[in-house]
Amino acid sequence: MQALERDGWACVQCGTHKRLECDHIQPVRTHPELAYTLTNLQILCGACHTRKTRIEVGHKPLTPKRQQWRDLLRDMQRNPVEHERKLNADI
Ligand SMILES: [Zn+2]
Repeated sequence: MQALERDGWACVQCGTHKRLECDHIQPVRTHPELAYTLTNLQILCGACHTRKTRIEVGHKPLTPKRQQWRDLLRDMQRNPVEHERKLNADI
């Protein structure tokens, strides 16, 4: 809760207010002693958090095109009505 207040209830990477998660800047698996240290916490959205974790566990980051596609699919699953409206507006 303190991290959310400090970071203004927004992802520190992309600024969204949706699906916020609390990230450990230094991962708990390597720095368990920092698990509850406020300066080691930052607020990320689900997408930014996943991206960071992928890199930490040694997966290559997705290419920008693949990342865009993945973000779009995730967003469509989350907001199907909004996307339907956008599609109809484009036609
Ligand atoms: Zn984000």
